Order: sequence, then structure tokens, then C-alpha cells
Amino acid sequence: MEIGGNSLQSGPDAVKRKVSYFYDPEVGNYYYGQGHPMKPHRIRMTHALLAHYGLLQHMQVLKPFPARDRDLCRFHADDYVAFLRNITPETQQDQIRQLKRFNVGEDCPVFDGLYSFCQTYAGGSVGGAVKLNHGLCDIAVNWAGGLHHAKKCEASGFCYVNDIVLAILELLKQHERVLYVDIDIHHGDGVEEAFYTTDRVMTVSFHKFGDYFPGTGDIRDIGYGKGKYYSLNVPLDDGIDDESYQSLFKPIIGKVMEVFRPGAVVLQCGADSLSGDRLGCFNLSIRGHAECVRYMRSFNVPLLLLGGGGYTIRNVARCWCYETAVALGIEIDDKMPQHEYYEYFGPDYTLHVAPSNMENKNSRQLLDEIRTKLLENLSKLRHAPSVQFQERPPDTELPEADEDQDDGDERWDPDSDMEVDDERKPLSNRVRKDIIEPELKDMDDQKVVAEHDKGVDATAEVSCSKAPDAASMSIDEPISVKAEQESLNKSSDHPVQMHSTIP
Ligand SMILES: [Zn+2]
Repeated sequence: MEIGGNSLQSGPDAVKRKVSYFYDPEVGNYYYGQGHPMKPHRIRMTHALLAHYGLLQHMQVLKPFPARDRDLCRFHADDYVAFLRNITPETQQDQIRQLKRFNVGEDCPVFDGLYSFCQTYAGGSVGGAVKLNHGLCDIAVNWAGGLHHAKKCEASGFCYVNDIVLAILELLKQHERVLYVDIDIHHGDGVEEAFYTTDRVMTVSFHKFGDYFPGTGDIRDIGYGKGKYYSLNVPLDDGIDDESYQSLFKPIIGKVMEVFRPGAVVLQCGADSLSGDRLGCFNLSIRGHAECVRYMRSFNVPLLLLGGGGYTIRNVARCWCYETAVALGIEIDDKMPQHEYYEYFGPDYTLHVAPSNMENKNSRQLLDEIRTKLLENLSKLRHAPSVQFQERPPDTELPEADEDQDDGDERWDPDSDMEVDDERKPLSNRVRKDIIEPELKDMDDQKVVAEHDKGVDATAEVSCSKAPDAASMSIDEPISVKAEQESLNKSSDHPVQMHSTIP
């Protein structure tokens, strides 16, 4: 069967899209620990559903190439990345200060293979961005990604590295403007913060606000400096249903698409906004959640679909399977096919589940006020800012091997000048090792530069050293201003809560 469908240019919404789907068969084996709500197994369950619904044959299935240190350091501080690479469950008790400094240990535990897990989920998102940049697909999907809380030098809310920021940085090499939309129940704070002062990335987050993790995402937080009006926050209350949600999502996103005119869109599809989520308190159906995917897809703009939260894992798998079908433009049966995790889906064994009868605390009046306020902010936004490109950084070559392709232990040369998809040449392990070693040396060099750059701050204990590649991007200075502004704004009306303590 032919892979994918027509290209984006060819037209109307009903037309099929060419979809690249990133999946690593190992991802389901990572385990945050007993009782931890974040379960990478849900990615494997999603994949099993996709396989048994016959959806894999309609897309290009790719095993992500693991993100390397230098890829992660395009956003993250090199000392934080080095810490993630080296920490193990066995050695963590000797690193108490470091654990505290990087916020690792409680919500974000150290577990076996932690760093490989980060490399895998980040590799899928950056790989998806590379595919889109090369015009090799219309929609790229990485359900293992979407870990929106991670900060430049800090883990947060089950997230260690921010694959979304890394993917957006990759898309910015090719696109003047990138739109980020976040439908996870939690505020997309890590992504917002990274791009708070730039007009090249617009972030729009729909989330529960008020006495809820991470505590940020006030409607009054709109961006800063050049980035003013390029951050949008949609604060919602418990029990929101499909109709109420879409009464905000479509007018707001419709307006954003009209005035911002992004070259690419990243949609974080966190499934903890579904009805019945273990940590969430919204009341969306899978169709209501997927309506956001359908709507984004209708604009015919290169689209990166990512995962995120989602803690009632049978519903997460249902949701992401259905959303993959929506991306492909294929209708799938509500009756679930037999597969290895079938028993999770009883007693009905259906794809869709009815939302609950919980109260919707979002009144019509409140929703109208929010929509009016946000549309007003959008009207202040300059019509599609043009960006002066400085020298364009080279595209990241992040080739991936087809999942069903038996490549043994061979790797593809990540530094080659070859096109991503064609003519990839295998490298032996020995050669690959030679590539890694200079990389480590480079990292040491970066440290020296970073120390030098710090100047008067050189004595400061926390060295959130400048990520060298991000600095060479033509985006404006990331972060820092936001933190200051937030500490000014900070009041007792939205206390910060731990992600895992939400009932
Ligand atoms: Zn979440």
C-alpha cells in the first residue's frame, strides 16, 4: 500500500495527509516507579491499538534517533544535561545537593534508563520537526513527547527535558513563525517561558487555572518585550465539556491563525484533560479532545502532534489512537479490535467512552469574558511580523531508521550532509563512538565558554550556563525576564502545587 496521501498543497480538508509516526519499541519499558502516575507503558498501548486498527500501514513508522547531548543542550544547560546523563538510582544518594538543585527526586524521580528515555522522547519530537522542515511529511506524530513542564536547568511535573522547545527551535530554522498550542490540563509553562520574549513563537495554552499545578498561566500573562501579546493563556475551571471548550478553542485559534500566520504548528495533546483522568478535573470526551486535532489539521500547515500528560492510561491510548486516525483522515470503528492489552478496555471494549455528569463550573458568562479578553489581546498583535533572518543555522540531520527495518546495532551518521530520508549510510559502532567522543570534548569547551560568559556572575552558585546553539538562533533572548516578572506578580491567589499530589 502506498504510504500516506497527498501533500498539503493539494487542498481541501478531506484530502489525506502524509503522516510520519515516531515510535521506539523500548519506550514502554521505562518505569517511573511504584505508584507514580506517569506510565510510559501508555505509549506502547497506543501503538498496539494503532497496529490492530490497521493504521500503521497508512503512515511512515519511524524509530527515532536518540537526541544527543548537543541536541539537548540547544535549550538545556550543559551541567543539567550532564547530570541527567550520569545520575542512576544507585548513585543518587551521593548527589543530594544536585538532586535538589535540578528538582529531581520527588515528582521527577531517578529511574533506570532515565537519560535514554529523555533521548528517545526528545529524538522523536526533533525528528518530527526535521521531517516537516524537509517537507517529507505533512503531519509528524510523537506520542512519547510533549513534556511541557521541563525548564532550561530544572525538571518539573514528570518532565526532564523539554522536547517541545527543542522541536520548535528546529522548526524555527525553516519557518519564520511557529505556533504552539497546548491542550493538556496543566499550563504549558516550560514552553511559554522559553519563548516569552520573542514574537517568532506564539504559545497558546488551555488549562485548569486556580489552585492547580504548576500555578502559572494567568490570563494576564501575555508575553514580554518583543514577545508582548505572543503568549496566550486560557484559564479554565473544573468540569469543562466539549461544547464549552470548543466555544473558546475555535474562535481563539481561528483568530491566531489569521493574524499570526505560522509556518508550522506544534500541538501538545496532553490527555489529562479527558473526562475521568486520574489527575485531571475536566470533562472532555475523546471526540471533543480530538476536535482540536481536526481543527488544527484543517489549516493545511505543517503540524507536529505530541503527547503529554494523561494518567488514566486506557483512555490515553484510546485518545491518541483516535487522534492518529484523525490525522490520517480515516474513520475507525468504535468496536475495539482484539489485541494484547484488550482486557484494559472492559467492560465495553469500545474506543469512545461517555463523559461524566460532573458539574461544569465554567459559566457561559465566564467563557464569554475570557473569549472577549483574548480576542482583544489578539487584535493588538501586529499583523504577521516579518522576521529578518540572520545567517541561517544548518538543519539538524536527525535520521531515523524505519522501525521494521533490521539495522542491528548500526547507526546512521548524524553528522552527514545527506538528506534525512534518502541514501542513509550505516556506520559501525566503532565509528559512532568516535562521533560521541569529540562531542564530550565539545561540551567541556562549552563549559569554559559559559563560565567566561557569566562575567560578574561567575561566583553565583547555580550556573544555568548559556546553551550555545540557542544563542546562535535569531530568536530573541529566551527566558529569565519571565521569572522576574512572575516573582513580581506572585500573590497568594494561585499557590503552586505538586503535580502528583492532585487527587
Ligand atoms: Zn498535564
